[in-house]
Amino acid sequence: MNADFADRLHLVLARIRAAEHRFQRLPGSVHVLAVSKTQPATAIAALAAAGQRRFGENYLQEALDKIAELAALDLEWHFIGPIQTNKTRGIAEHFAWVHSVDRLKIAERLNAQRPADLPPLNICLQVNIDQEPAKQGLEEREVALIAAAVAALPRLRLRGLMAIPAPVADFASQRRPLARLRTLQDLLNAAGLALDTLSMGMSEDLEAAIAEGATLTRVGTALFGPRP
Ligand SMILES: *Cc1c(COP(=O)(O)O)cnc(C)c1O
Repeated sequence: MNADFADRLHLVLARIRAAEHRFQRLPGSVHVLAVSKTQPATAIAALAAAGQRRFGENYLQEALDKIAELAALDLEWHFIGPIQTNKTRGIAEHFAWVHSVDRLKIAERLNAQRPADLPPLNICLQVNIDQEPAKQGLEEREVALIAAAVAALPRLRLRGLMAIPAPVADFASQRRPLARLRTLQDLLNAAGLALDTLSMGMSEDLEAAIAEGATLTRVGTALFGPRP
C-alpha cells in the first residue's frame, strides 16, 4: 500500500515537472498541496513517508483529529474548505495556511485569534472566478479592496489568490478562468501588494493551471485515489 502512495506521488511530481518545462516555468516553482479530506491518517502518513509535507483539509473537526494524530510528523497544514465564523479559532490555532478566505470578517477573526507564539497565518483570498451564483468566493470586483484590508492585518500574511473553476474537459477552456485569476493577481501586485502564491489546479487541470502561473496545486484524487 505504501508503495502505491509513493508511485502516485512520483507520477504527480513528474506531471508537474513536465508542465513546468513545457510552459517555461522555473524548475521547482510549482508545489503540491496533498488534499487529504475524507482520507484516513494512515494514508496521510504513507504519503508523508514518500516525502510529501503540505496537506490540505476541508472540514475542521476531521482535520483537528488527524493533525493531533500525526503531530510527530511535522507536516504543514492548509485549510481549504468553506469557513463558518465559529470555526475560525480552531483554524487560527492549528493551521499554517488558509486558502478559502472570502470575507473580511473571517480574516479579522483569524487575525484576532492567531496565537502570539505562532508565525503570521498565510492567507489566500478565494475568488469566484466563474461567477457561479452558488459558489464560495469573492467577486472579482471586490478583491482589490478586501486584499488591501487583509494585507494590513498584522497576524496574517496575505500570500495570494485561490480559485476552484467550474470543471471543464478541454485544455483551452480550463486555461481561461485560471488566466483571469493570474491577471487579477498581477493587478494587485502592480498596485503595491507582494503576492507570491496562486493556489489553482487540481487533479484534472494541473497542466492548465501551471501554464497560467499556478505556484501551489491542490491535488487529491491523483495522490490518494478516489475519496472513500
Ligand atoms: C477536494 C479539493 C481538491 C482536490 O480535488 P481533486 O480533484 O481530488 O484533485 C482541491 N481543492 C479543493 C478546494 C478541494 O476541496
